[in-house]
Amino acid sequence: MSILIFAETADGQLKKPAFEAATYACDLAQKSGEAVHAVAIGPAEASTLEKLGQYGVSTVHHVHDEAMNAFANAAYAAAVTAVAESIDARVVVLPQTYNGRAIAPRIAVKLDAALFSGVISLVDPANGFDATRSAYSGKGIEEIKTQCDKLVITVKANGYRVEAQPTEVTVAAFAFQPEASDLNAIARELIKASEGISLTEAEIVVSAGRGMKGPENWGMIEELAGLLGAATACSKPTADMGWRPHHEHVGQTGIQIAPNLYIAIGISGAIQHLAGVSSSKNIVVINKDPEAPFFKVADYGIVGDLFEVVPRLIEAIKAARAAA
Ligand SMILES: Cc1cc2nc3c(=O)[nH]c(=O)nc-3n(C[C@H](O)[C@H](O)[C@H](O)COP(=O)(O)OP(=O)(O)OC[C@H]3O[C@@H](n4cnc5c(N)ncnc54)[C@H](O)[C@@H]3O)c2cc1C
Repeated sequence: MSILIFAETADGQLKKPAFEAATYACDLAQKSGEAVHAVAIGPAEASTLEKLGQYGVSTVHHVHDEAMNAFANAAYAAAVTAVAESIDARVVVLPQTYNGRAIAPRIAVKLDAALFSGVISLVDPANGFDATRSAYSGKGIEEIKTQCDKLVITVKANGYRVEAQPTEVTVAAFAFQPEASDLNAIARELIKASEGISLTEAEIVVSAGRGMKGPENWGMIEELAGLLGAATACSKPTADMGWRPHHEHVGQTGIQIAPNLYIAIGISGAIQHLAGVSSSKNIVVINKDPEAPFFKVADYGIVGDLFEVVPRLIEAIKAARAAA
């Protein structure tokens, strides 16, 4: 018996959620005494895949069939299932990314396993795989368990830590040829919405809302984000009005994120907005209205005019950097 993770790659590099999944599997392995394997699909150097050894993975199975260089739901699910069956995996851990979410249900069906999606705690292998996941758009926490002896899990992005737990690692080619019918729908081309840091993977997010008054004022938000190495986000109305691109809209009807630091500037904190950001580890709110609902969930709040506060924050960060 063993634990398998789906180590997602992009442009030949491991994505951050792959390390989260590895840390999760490694923690689980310490409870269950099982070995942690990974499957990586597509072009990647062995030296890149070996990095997973730093996070407790002992064997990386590399599926490299030309036909699977681009993501294809059915073919990727079949490949992960083939590796899982070859090592008799009891648990398969995937990141809750677009690709992870797309293939997890197929893998669960193929393995006759239960599926826990968006898990935020370590499952207990001794007790019906007891676990918790966020529910109702992040407003609640759901306790789940299953009678199944096999489990497929997706781990919420930024929902689990990344921690080095080094072990000896082997990278081995895994021979897998997809069925032609599994390649009916493939992603032919990936067009990035922005070159910036991925919103779902960002450690820090600087977000702004209607308090900005207009799109012409966003320069300071981008400058602050650049200084902090952060991704930018926005409230729904600002995307609807065309002030910001739609892929930045967070909330119930937008992207749900859980960064270490979420800075909300000129955003009221409506329940639909909070639904997408309330899992953030630290929330800083800048708003001129002391009664703004966002302050109720803030770890730190600044009551003031954002057009004064944000430039001063930028200057303070620059001064602190210059002095360091
Ligand atoms: C079904 C449904 C789904 C929705 N989904 C989403 C969603 O996914 N995401 C989302 O964001 N919203 C969503 N909404 C909309 C949501 O209800 C709010 O209307 C929206 O979040 C408000 O955006 P805002 O905070 O930018 O604007 P406002 O509510 O207008 O708030 C602007 C804030 O800026 C502050 N402000 C103004 N000027 C300044 C200044 N100079 N300095 C400092 N502060 C200032 C104000 O005090 C105010 O608190 C949804 C609504 C519905 C009905």
